[in-house]
Amino acid sequence: MVIRRNADFSVVELDSPTRTRQELPGWLHKQDLYEADLPYIHGLLASSFSDWLEEVDGYPWISSIVLLHPDGSSLACSGEKELREHPFSRGISLLGHTAASAALETCRPTLMRGEEHSSSSLYGFDTLAVPIFTRTSGIPCALLTCIFPVATAQAADLKLLQAAALHYRSCIYRQFENLFVGGLLRDQSLTQKEEKRRNILFDVMRRLNDHIDVEDVLTEVLNSLEQLYPICKTDLFLSQDYNSSNEKVKPLAFHMSNMDLCKAAFVEGQIREERDTGRHQLALPLQGKQGVYGVLRLDLPDHGFDESDISFLSMLATATGAAFEKAKLHEQANVLIGELRLINELTQRLNRSLKLTDTMQFASTELINIFQSDSCCILQYDMTAQQFVVITSNVPEMVGQIFSRDYGFCGVMWTTKEPIILSDYIASSPVGSHLMDITDSRSLLAAPLLLNGDVIGAVMISKRTANHFSYDNYKLLQVLSAHLGLALSNATLHAEVRRMVITDNLTGLYARHYLNERIGRKQSKDTSGSLIVVDLDHFKRINDTYGHQVGDDILTQVSHIIRTSIRDTDIPARWGGEELAIYLPLLSIDQTRRVAERIRTRVESETNPKVTVSCGISEWHSTDDRVSVESLFYKADMALYDAKHRGRNCIVIG
Ligand code: GH3
Ligand code: MG
Ligand code: MG
Repeated sequence: MVIRRNADFSVVELDSPTRTRQELPGWLHKQDLYEADLPYIHGLLASSFSDWLEEVDGYPWISSIVLLHPDGSSLACSGEKELREHPFSRGISLLGHTAASAALETCRPTLMRGEEHSSSSLYGFDTLAVPIFTRTSGIPCALLTCIFPVATAQAADLKLLQAAALHYRSCIYRQFENLFVGGLLRDQSLTQKEEKRRNILFDVMRRLNDHIDVEDVLTEVLNSLEQLYPICKTDLFLSQDYNSSNEKVKPLAFHMSNMDLCKAAFVEGQIREERDTGRHQLALPLQGKQGVYGVLRLDLPDHGFDESDISFLSMLATATGAAFEKAKLHEQANVLIGELRLINELTQRLNRSLKLTDTMQFASTELINIFQSDSCCILQYDMTAQQFVVITSNVPEMVGQIFSRDYGFCGVMWTTKEPIILSDYIASSPVGSHLMDITDSRSLLAAPLLLNGDVIGAVMISKRTANHFSYDNYKLLQVLSAHLGLALSNATLHAEVRRMVITDNLTGLYARHYLNERIGRKQSKDTSGSLIVVDLDHFKRINDTYGHQVGDDILTQVSHIIRTSIRDTDIPARWGGEELAIYLPLLSIDQTRRVAERIRTRVESETNPKVTVSCGISEWHSTDDRVSVESLFYKADMALYDAKHRGRNCIVIG
């Protein structure tokens, strides 16, 4: 605004380069200063005075104007140097009766001549004062004052000061309106920011709730934070063993340095913050209903987070905790369902077959799949020999290996009866292990197979990489090993029963029905075979002489001689009473005779009391007219009959 004084000082031109009042909205005009605001407007008055000084141009005696607050304090002067020397600079309260105090009292522009002043120090001056009133409430909010050498002030000067006051008042209101609107805008922008945050939070929460996968929940929250606070360093520490592909997700390791804040947040389940020079660190617990799952750590440089940030982040952390818990429970439920299905399938399959090797081979393959491992080894504990025998393994060198009951991990399990999880065999291992050595394995999961609290076997699963198996794997193997133990014991019992069924009690040779069965099977596959029937000579006499007990013992001696005189593939059996039989697959008649001869001579020389045997031999060829077990026995029996007639202790071929 430019104020020009006309030649007679009577006309004042007001010309405002700033926007006019008409442009302002009506409600803004109604805003005003009130009595209660007066103690707080010193700053507003002083800065509006600066505005006025900047805008005023060509104002006479500009340097002698002093701005006063109605409380009497002087706020500003048009000239800094002059203010210090100006009598008004000490305020009207000190000056007593001046134009300023009169103007305040009368609420009118006042000109006071030198002699009218109560203070003699002002006798040399004429003083002028113009009160400035608020626009609607009409209370005086400031005073513009001015001094002139005594008897020089004119009425026109008072008018000019009035014009200056008018201009200054417009400056006050401009500032006031700016402040008012600025405040409103600030409030509005805060509300908008808050609303934006709420929208984001709502969005994130909705998306978090959509996820039933733990990894998705973590990615969602980390991505949202990255978008909201791009320069913030974010880390997510999880308390459970969880492998995330996201590099920002780390295990919550309290022993590490810089983890005190996170530890406190985790233990207390409350937000913790730490301000350092140039940075602000927040630790937010991820809490669900069942506990705290981890801590979200945010590190922001410069001014850090404000209160609304913290309240927003706290809500986000709570939502994340809940979503994480939900996803985790969902995952656990899925794992449990999967495990139950697996246990169910495995036990069904294990019970389907009672053949030990088939069952265990199946179990081994399944275990390798379930635990994504490289090798598996199932061992059976031999109570009599007190050693572990590998009954199945996908590592061919392991099959049939025998380990003493105190060797390696089986040795540990034999003592503790507890499963074992080993994260790195190379880094540290309590014992050496043949399986781990030959397979170059680092991770191991092993469990004893128990029956009524006794170790009947062991299962070992290994992986070439370290830290492969999880605690969940450990627990699952524990459950599966109980079923494996039962399957192993069932298969063993079944094998034992079968062995008993096909074995003769006294001699340990096969039973007759088993021999028949085997010969029948051989005859359907092989091209030839032979049979020796061995009968003890005058056995009745032996019994009569030495008693049945000794008779039984001799029968056992002869059986032992037979067993040790034939090949593994030959089938020795007790044909009935004191008659024994041996089926020799694919053996020529000459070779058979040699076997019979060996038996005959050994019986004669090795038995005690000494007995002799007579043997009848028969054979069959696939080219024969009629091939049957009965005819084979019949021929051998006939030959034996012949041998008896020839004087016993001899061999006859039928
Ligand atoms: P031979 O030389 O003609 O074969 O005379 P033998 O006395 O051996 O023949 P015999 O058929 O007259 O008698 C067989 C005897 O074998 C009758 C029975 O007492 C005896 N015997 C059969 N089974 C057993 C057994 O399990 N234990 C014992 N101690 N004796 C048996
Ligand atoms: Mg006999
Ligand atoms: Mg007989």
